[in-house]
Amino acid sequence: MKVLVTGGAGFIGSHVADRMVADGHDVAVVDDLSSGRREQVPGAANLYQMDVESRWLDRVIERERPEAVIHLAAQVSVSRSMREPMFDAQVNVLGSLGLVLACRQHGVRRLVFASTGGAIYGDTEVLPTPETFPAWPESPYGAAKLAVEHYLHLFHRLDGFSAACLRFANVYGPRQDPHGEAGVVAIFAGALLEGRAPTIHGDGRKTRDYVYVGDVVEAVAAAMRGEACGAFNIGTGIETDVNRLYGLIAGAAGSDLAAVHGPDRPGDVERSCLAIGRATEVLGWRPRVELAEGVALTVDYFRQRVAATA
Ligand code: NAD
Repeated sequence: MKVLVTGGAGFIGSHVADRMVADGHDVAVVDDLSSGRREQVPGAANLYQMDVESRWLDRVIERERPEAVIHLAAQVSVSRSMREPMFDAQVNVLGSLGLVLACRQHGVRRLVFASTGGAIYGDTEVLPTPETFPAWPESPYGAAKLAVEHYLHLFHRLDGFSAACLRFANVYGPRQDPHGEAGVVAIFAGALLEGRAPTIHGDGRKTRDYVYVGDVVEAVAAAMRGEACGAFNIGTGIETDVNRLYGLIAGAAGSDLAAVHGPDRPGDVERSCLAIGRATEVLGWRPRVELAEGVALTVDYFRQRVAATA
């Protein structure tokens, strides 16, 4: 099958592109390399270094004629979306809408859209949170992702356009940026392996649902094969607080450095955890990698990187 992956030079996208190549698909990648890295794009994939907002994107879809498109390219920073909501909407709403219109125009059979589970529900007492829980995002980033979900729902009703919206929990694993503002596993692992004490924002009792990138890739592959439309939470259904996560990472890194506690970050929800029954029942997907195992795999990856640059 011909598959086009947007954001295929990034953290999740490069793992997805690798998997598509390994499955024997003919893969094209669209990425502007704003945060992604060229060397993460599999050699067998055709890379178009291009902004998803570009008017040339339509030409790429027309030329490549993909049967499936996996849309992961995005402005991924929640705090940047707070500071620059127009920029966020340009990339995440208009860029996505342009891509979706090109997909409809050129007969793409299936679209898989990277939405968010962590930023779409806001603070809720219903945990784990199902897809049926009212989505009232607390950031422009979450609002933009939800807007794209609504467009996809609309186009499904109008002409049967087939799309699955995967609401990812907190994804972690090899290749995540350890210097970003999000991606706490990579940040903690990177700091500890360099002998620096990481900062925990607040008392460390905030919870999140951490899902390993390999499991996310499986979910994307299952969603691409399937035909079911709408939103699917992709997480583990397990809440883990930052203090426990820190202990796991420090243990895997062989570090006894204590974390520094800093002030809370405004806008961070207290608890987040996704109910994954719909993905299990409809996509036949479930996460396989337990947190301790995933953390060990991630720390090993960063250990090799630190060693390679030493
Ligand atoms: P990432 O930053 O590693 O990947 C995003 C990729 O998109 C990068 O390669 C970047 O260069 C590219 N990109 C950014 N803006 C672009 C533009 N205008 N045109 C073309 N390419 C552009 O982030 P990631 O964590 O791999 O996220 C992938 C997707 O998953 C995003 O849509 C993100 O919103 C979503 N998501 C991620 C998480 C998570 O925990 N990592 C959680 C929920 C949702």
